[in-house]
Amino acid sequence: MTSIPPLIPAAATTSTTQSRTPTPTPTPTPTSSSSSSNTYAIISKPNITQIQFGPYTLKTWYGTSVYFSRNEGHELGFKDCERSKVGVKPNKDNTSTISNADTTLDQLDSADHDQMSNEPWLDKLYVCDYCFKYTDSMGQYQQHYQYCESLQKEFVFGKISYRDSKHTIRKIKGSKHKLFCQNLSLFTKLYLDNKSVFFDVDHFQYFIIYDNFSLKPLGFFSMELLSLERNNLACILIFPPYQRQRLGRKLIEFSYALSRSQYLISGPEKPLSPFGLVGYLRYWSDVIGRLFLEKGVLANVETVTIDQISSITGFRCEDVDMTLRYMEVLFRSDDTGKDVVLDLNRLKEWAKVNHVDSGKSSDMIENDCLLF
Ligand SMILES: [Zn+2]
Repeated sequence: MTSIPPLIPAAATTSTTQSRTPTPTPTPTPTSSSSSSNTYAIISKPNITQIQFGPYTLKTWYGTSVYFSRNEGHELGFKDCERSKVGVKPNKDNTSTISNADTTLDQLDSADHDQMSNEPWLDKLYVCDYCFKYTDSMGQYQQHYQYCESLQKEFVFGKISYRDSKHTIRKIKGSKHKLFCQNLSLFTKLYLDNKSVFFDVDHFQYFIIYDNFSLKPLGFFSMELLSLERNNLACILIFPPYQRQRLGRKLIEFSYALSRSQYLISGPEKPLSPFGLVGYLRYWSDVIGRLFLEKGVLANVETVTIDQISSITGFRCEDVDMTLRYMEVLFRSDDTGKDVVLDLNRLKEWAKVNHVDSGKSSDMIENDCLLF
């Protein structure tokens, strides 16, 4: 059973239009694919030229068909539903809500689109930077801001799971705030190529990071409620205007803090995207490197096993192993040529050369601020 497709127009004043060309950076970015096997969203290149995202005009990084109708060329999918009047309920902000999930998902399944076309499908998509509702009409976009409940404090939803002097992280259940999570997922696909869950959000929870003094989401990660592999993260994205502030690292740290609170050795869903892999390797190597520096808990050990590093950090053994190989601190024993041995001196040297004791690699999540 598939769930309700998102729809809809958003609105808002586009005050200062700030052009940016987002550069994919390893730190706060994307990661893994999600568990669904949906493939209909995959388009070989960006098919929406620009996104108006609050005051920011952004280029998209990846193509997506899930915003579009299957039946009406390259029109937005919700218009299809408005025409057919399948369970459409007009809202006061000139938006709509579809109630017939199966019909609509089928309508939105655009596998038949001409994916080889060189023409963009849409010149500009307007996306509310508070609730992620969308439209191709600037007028509707501007009108939406007058009614968008996400701009009003009394309508803020989600349970606060973390709050320090700068940021708040809220937990939002996909089953409870379906439309928000679906629209968030659709937007994410523009910047995370292997994002594959758009509508079936019931089985996920979403951790959204906010500046303490704003209701505007800066980024998020999703997590499966029942993960057989006990993954602590399904996908992660810091929205383009807010990247390069180390928010991705903060969310990754938070995901491990969450696992530790449940006494779990855990990690992200695999396979990781290339960007996700780079981000995680940096994080894992920083944390592991610090264990062996002067004040680290393993500073004075003469031998250590991957299991020990795993239990101290909460990282999976396979991730510790991959990180040590990335750091090039493993070698084969001279005696047998089979045993792999960790070269502690080389590891400490790696940590110093790569400045893992600097402020940049220090913890960003404060344990006292965890609220779960
Ligand atoms: Zn909105």
